[in-house]
Amino acid sequence: METHFSLDLGDLVLEGRIDQINPFGGENAVELLDYKTGRPRSQKEADSSLQLSVYALAARDGMKMKPVRLAFYNLGDNEPVYTARTPRDLAKAVEEIREVAEQIRQMIFHPTPGFVCKWCDYQPVCPAHEEVL
Ligand code: SF4
Repeated sequence: METHFSLDLGDLVLEGRIDQINPFGGENAVELLDYKTGRPRSQKEADSSLQLSVYALAARDGMKMKPVRLAFYNLGDNEPVYTARTPRDLAKAVEEIREVAEQIRQMIFHPTPGFVCKWCDYQPVCPAHEEVL
């Protein structure tokens, strides 16, 4: 439960927490669960989630496990949405992470406004809200 990870990708390190890791068969095979409150996540969201890909990378490369199944566990309807990642999917996820890291290094931050803005501490300096004002 609540396992911290530190994923070293050479020139960058990702830190995070996986809600739950369950044994899933033998030879270090595991299932990774991320609990979701609020709106239930869809199959499409689980299949395309970079968050779940990062968890799979952390389990595979950081913890030497085999992440054979990933899931968003929707607490609202008590239903898991299962997905998986191939080695190719994870290689693509690393590319995406590196692209985002490069943008951050270049101070390129594209705001993506949404319902979370009302709780965001950066709203006073966020370009998305400057335009509205
Ligand atoms: S206020 Fe700006 S930075 Fe904050 S969540 Fe909204 S779009 Fe993102």
